[in-house]
Amino acid sequence: MNSNQNKQRTDVNSLGEFGLIDHLTRNFALNNVSSIKGVGDDAAVLKVGEEVILISTDMLVEGIHFDMAYTPLKHLGYKSIVVNVSDIYAMNGVPTQVTVSIAISNRYSVEALDEFYAGILLACEKYNVDLIGGDTTSSPKGMSISVTAIGRAKPNQVVYRTGAKVGDIICVSGYLGAAYLGLQILEREKQIYLENPEIQPDLDNASYLIESILKPEAAKDSIEYFHKHNLVPTSMIDVSDGLASELFHIAKQSRVGLYIEETKLPIHQETQLKAISFNIDPLTCALHGGEDYELLFTVDPKDLEKVKYMPDVYIIGDIVEENEGLKIHTSGGNIKDLVAQGWQHFKKD
Ligand code: ADP
Ligand code: MG
Repeated sequence: MNSNQNKQRTDVNSLGEFGLIDHLTRNFALNNVSSIKGVGDDAAVLKVGEEVILISTDMLVEGIHFDMAYTPLKHLGYKSIVVNVSDIYAMNGVPTQVTVSIAISNRYSVEALDEFYAGILLACEKYNVDLIGGDTTSSPKGMSISVTAIGRAKPNQVVYRTGAKVGDIICVSGYLGAAYLGLQILEREKQIYLENPEIQPDLDNASYLIESILKPEAAKDSIEYFHKHNLVPTSMIDVSDGLASELFHIAKQSRVGLYIEETKLPIHQETQLKAISFNIDPLTCALHGGEDYELLFTVDPKDLEKVKYMPDVYIIGDIVEENEGLKIHTSGGNIKDLVAQGWQHFKKD
């Protein structure tokens, strides 16, 4: 007989993704002096000698994070490294190694996996990380990928989600919303293809948007700029779930409020145009789209000059007192509460 039979059954959806992580990890304390930061940021932080080691893991699951109908395996390999390297950058660290673990069904041939690894190799070269191990196992269905990225930083260089202070300036390292629209284009083409395989894909000049979802880049240049100019943001996170969701993480963990200006949000012209043609508000793409892999960071106002000269940087708002909450000044002159998806429901990421 099942001993769990009379126990309460709580649906994972009821806690939300972040609530579920909090729930599962609530009994774990850090007992080793080398464990500086555990659960709760973009990467864990371990003290080793004069430096700290950063470790971050992300999983990609077929049917949830990628669809084989429109995902070239080489791009998938590349992206699986990029999303992990991005978490090391989000701590202001330098990525140095990765491990790659895969579970694959026999639908995948050696040639297909060679393609996947060609993408991994390309990303390892671009981001200067070494592939140092992993695990390979079979799966009854589809493909799952788990990548762990390891990086290093000087202890006083590490940037957490907890350090934003009232008066700090909120910045992002590049355009938002493009990956979300790229995904909408691919989904639409897939539906058209399924209904009528004779029709060829209509990817009319959408290469920027499609590349944003299939082959994103991590904000390497921003981190190099920070290090070169001795600029240490007060807090930082990478934009994986969507700007609004990441702003909630910063606000909650730094115990501050914030406001952002709609007119300052960096939205590429192609994103604007395609959003309008899809009848989606470009603002929704920028706030909730996700998978941008840009850095969202705050800086002390004394560093404003250094920030201004960053090649790609957009100043989007300010940190205020916690009791002011999270607000957006709309282009129409209104002030609205920010809402974030992913905080109420268990999302597919
Ligand atoms: P990110 O979007 O930056 O990859 P996540 O939202 O996935 O971060 O995770 C937030 C934090 O929770 C991280 O510190 C991560 O290591 C931790 N975490 C996520 N899932 C689990 C889990 N199942 N067990 C322990 N820690 C987890
Ligand atoms: Mg992250």
